[in-house]
Amino acid sequence: MLKLDFHPAGRHFLQIPGPSPVPDRILRAMSYPTIDHRGPEFGALGLAVLDGIKKIFKTAQPVVIYPASGTGAWEAALTNTLSPGDAVLMYETGHFATLWKKMAENLGLKPEFLGLPGVEGWRRGVQADLIEARLRADTGHAIKAVCVVHNETSTGVTSDVAAVRRAIDAAGHPALFMVDTISGLACTDYRHDEWGVDVTVSGSQKGLMLPPGISFNAVSQKALAASRHAKLPRAFWNWAEIVEMNQQGYWPYTPNTNLLYGLSEALDMILGEGLDNVFARHRRLAAACRAAVQAWGLEIQCVDPAVYSPVLTGVVMPEGVDADAVRKLIYERFDLSLGTGLGKVKGRMFRIGHLGDCNDLALMAALSGCEMGLRLAGVPLRASGVGAAMDYLEQHESAPRLKAVA
Ligand code: PLP
Repeated sequence: MLKLDFHPAGRHFLQIPGPSPVPDRILRAMSYPTIDHRGPEFGALGLAVLDGIKKIFKTAQPVVIYPASGTGAWEAALTNTLSPGDAVLMYETGHFATLWKKMAENLGLKPEFLGLPGVEGWRRGVQADLIEARLRADTGHAIKAVCVVHNETSTGVTSDVAAVRRAIDAAGHPALFMVDTISGLACTDYRHDEWGVDVTVSGSQKGLMLPPGISFNAVSQKALAASRHAKLPRAFWNWAEIVEMNQQGYWPYTPNTNLLYGLSEALDMILGEGLDNVFARHRRLAAACRAAVQAWGLEIQCVDPAVYSPVLTGVVMPEGVDADAVRKLIYERFDLSLGTGLGKVKGRMFRIGHLGDCNDLALMAALSGCEMGLRLAGVPLRASGVGAAMDYLEQHESAPRLKAVA
């Protein structure tokens, strides 16, 4: 067992954009004894979580739950629906879109990466008109799938998924539509059925407030039909057997029992609060965070206010300042973890997560740590971001803590 010879007093502030802090209620639920995954109690648990998770995806279609990280669910989406050499249209929003595209290449697909040049595409959402134009040009329908990332965790930009659906329809193109909402789900509105998404990929460690370790594919009937003819090799990821056994609440292999206890508790918490309240809470905290960054006089990585992420905020450092050195200082001095810059923006920005089990004072603690760290690092700040965020939170009331008790 790893021995920590030092235990810092107080709690650690985990303000990365996932894994997000796991509420005590969920940790306690996960500590129940592991049960027989072929027994009757497990079947009841399985049916309950498989039904509950549909409400989060806003779907009446099957949601496949894997004992895997989000990367596994990416692979499942591609291998279940596509065949070697298939052309896939993917959109470059940032690091995670880039990783998904690399995976497509590794699997023997032919991804085409659409996007704005340079870092510009990493500061804006998906441009649906580019997708429409590309699909219109594909008169032979060689493109078999369109893949986009809903909330790009590397940049803090949330794209308009419904607009991409409209673009595909406007082009009259039959491609499957796949969306990664690994960090968007249960933080911001998502509508698998209404938006006509064929495969939605998500994970446990963000808005669902669970530890890493389970991931999801929400699957349309069109995707299920495609999976019957898709030729990419797949075994563990194969939807068919899982969907079949899920009908009784079971899996063809040993599922992640204790994480499913946690999922059941998370569903109670999120649906109890109400999805719209959860989304409003995220929007409010994100706005307070942006008020802080703007007061500091620093740039936000997302340059289009219409697509600011309610999940995280990317903070761009002035020229010559190493964002990772600032992050390290903040971690060492104030026991606060912030997200690193990834890929093209490494060293240029850090990310503040305000997702999942986050409230006003957790955000204020994170912003205080940031402000002290930025000052210690010698980054010139125009005004107090902490003050600006406090003003915002004071002036914008949150949902009442407790529903009226009759
Ligand atoms: N896609 C997005 C948008 C993500 O944020 C992440 C992880 O942060 C992934 C994919 C990869 O998921 P995982 O790290 O769980 O494999």
